[in-house]
Amino acid sequence: MRIPFIAGNWKMYKTVAEAVKYVKELRALVKDVEGVEIVLAPPFTALHAAAEAARNSKVGIAAQDVYWEREGAFTGEVSASMIREAGAAYVILGHSERRSLFGETDTTVNQKVAAAFAAGLVPIACIGETLDERERNETFDLLDRQIRHGLGALTSDQIGQLVIAYEPVWAIGTGRNATAAQAGEAHGHIRKRLHQWFGPDAAELCHVIYGGSVKPENIADLIAQPDVDGALVGGASLDVRRFLEIVMRSRGRDAARAD
Ligand code: PEP
Repeated sequence: MRIPFIAGNWKMYKTVAEAVKYVKELRALVKDVEGVEIVLAPPFTALHAAAEAARNSKVGIAAQDVYWEREGAFTGEVSASMIREAGAAYVILGHSERRSLFGETDTTVNQKVAAAFAAGLVPIACIGETLDERERNETFDLLDRQIRHGLGALTSDQIGQLVIAYEPVWAIGTGRNATAAQAGEAHGHIRKRLHQWFGPDAAELCHVIYGGSVKPENIADLIAQPDVDGALVGGASLDVRRFLEIVMRSRGRDAARAD
């Protein structure tokens, strides 16, 4: 049984002091909350301080990227073991902003997921189509390609531990979320492929979460879809009360599915 997984992607927002204040507030607010996995992804500069502030709480910490080499002359890069040592347990990979602005490809995602697993990090691997691709009816082909090339080298066991974030690029930071039906259809397709390519156990265990303008107002509809296991939240995660509301509403998933 997959419990809802809600992650906040802070992107390039929040100082160390702001991150620590937020984490302390959130950890107190969720101390008795069960049945949902909660993760925050601060920028690298705040990673260690946020992880310290979250220690022994219900809040997990993620990095927003990683480099695949263990160490070396790679100015500006950070390895998976460094991220682990800083206190993070997760890492976001292949975010569409990394793909469109910084040259991330399925090939580099493939190298990064392997490095993340080797260091004991849980990858949150992002896939999703652009508006052009959706309008050309290429969404499923694109998702197939991103899974095959970005994640195809993983074992079934690793797929079972992975989090896949389906993030239609046209819905990220635009205020325009995919409808629950659109998200449900894409998630159903991803689950079907995981089943075909990695087997029933991997497909059953892998969390497939939705990202793209998630807010307190739309999380209930999205998470009511059978294959939507949670959310990757950008803008709405910057405010602790709005993020908390998304976390709390995601716990109504089973009731919403029964409606
Ligand atoms: C994201 O950054 O992954 C994201 C989905 O952003 P937003 O929620 O702001 O659309």
